Amino acid sequence: MLYRVIDRADVPSLVAAFMERYEVVAPVRRGEKYVFAAVSDFDEIALDYPTTIASPKKYFLPATETLFEFDARENAVTDYVDEVRPRVLFGVHACDINGIMNLNSVFNDPRYPDPYYRAHQDATLIVGVSCTPGDTCFCHLMDSEEARPGYDLFLNAIGEAFLVSIGSVTAANILEGACDVREATDADRAAFRAATRARQGAFNGAIPDVQEIPMLMDAFHEDGFWDELGGRCLSCNACASVCPTCYCFDIRDTLDPGAETGRRERVWDGCTSPQFAMVAGGHNFRPTAAERVRHRMYHKLNGFLATHDRSLCVGCGRCAAACKVGISPIEVLKFFERKGADDGE
Ligand code: SF4
Ligand code: SF4
Repeated sequence: MLYRVIDRADVPSLVAAFMERYEVVAPVRRGEKYVFAAVSDFDEIALDYPTTIASPKKYFLPATETLFEFDARENAVTDYVDEVRPRVLFGVHACDINGIMNLNSVFNDPRYPDPYYRAHQDATLIVGVSCTPGDTCFCHLMDSEEARPGYDLFLNAIGEAFLVSIGSVTAANILEGACDVREATDADRAAFRAATRARQGAFNGAIPDVQEIPMLMDAFHEDGFWDELGGRCLSCNACASVCPTCYCFDIRDTLDPGAETGRRERVWDGCTSPQFAMVAGGHNFRPTAAERVRHRMYHKLNGFLATHDRSLCVGCGRCAAACKVGISPIEVLKFFERKGADDGE
């Protein structure tokens, strides 16, 4: 890995250089919270943000996306047209970069690559930034507290400077042209190690580190715990909407007035929705909220791991903040910890 060092005072110049060629999307403050949004000036960016309400996945997988248009009068379907804007996602935390890596592994599966997703991916540069964990963060328990691949630049805060990890030639050239870049010294590397240790020590110790989660998911598949969660779940899908790694979608045809032309769209869906598992004939193979919540947690903490060798949940904690009834993987980890304590008595 190649490292360079820039002063904090150089970051506005870096953003301005990106703006010459790209739309820049970054964390911005909205009231008491933060969101990813397009910016036109560095001063709009809140680089020291705790987390955003929703993840940046919408820039790869829009909530609604037209796949093609059709004209029934001509019996014609338009080809897919790439209208994706070149974009820089600036100030993305490591958990979200790992979330994007998970999406990449799904949508770039060589058996059925997704050209719509790929077009967004190819047009996007990612600039990460180090963070300080909040109360609901547990990325360190999901092996997602560091972004190894998956970024073009990563800004590691070391006091009044950033140790910049270089991930792509394109971004490196922009960095070199915009900033007063210097080589990393031993003192910079020591400051980086100290910052990493400080971050590791800042995680909420009340979120338990549970070993063998997949095995425990299987062992407690029939436990009444899932009924208790299902009894609370409002089936609102807020968890799926804010999650960086929920990628399920539905397909619908939207007709124009006159019903002769229209478009086929894909729209976000979520497995906590009651009709998600409804099939032709009206059968619902996950009819209860308990089954749906359990399914979501299984996919996050077990199922994806079996096929992709990494947990789908990256521990960003957004669903814990979004869920009005306190359901999240954190509760599942605490349940397993209680079970472990019960077994030990
Ligand atoms: S788990 Fe929470 S956020 Fe998710 S659907 Fe149920 S109530 Fe909504
Ligand atoms: S399941 Fe919750 S904590 Fe895990 S990645 Fe999704 S939103 Fe973040």
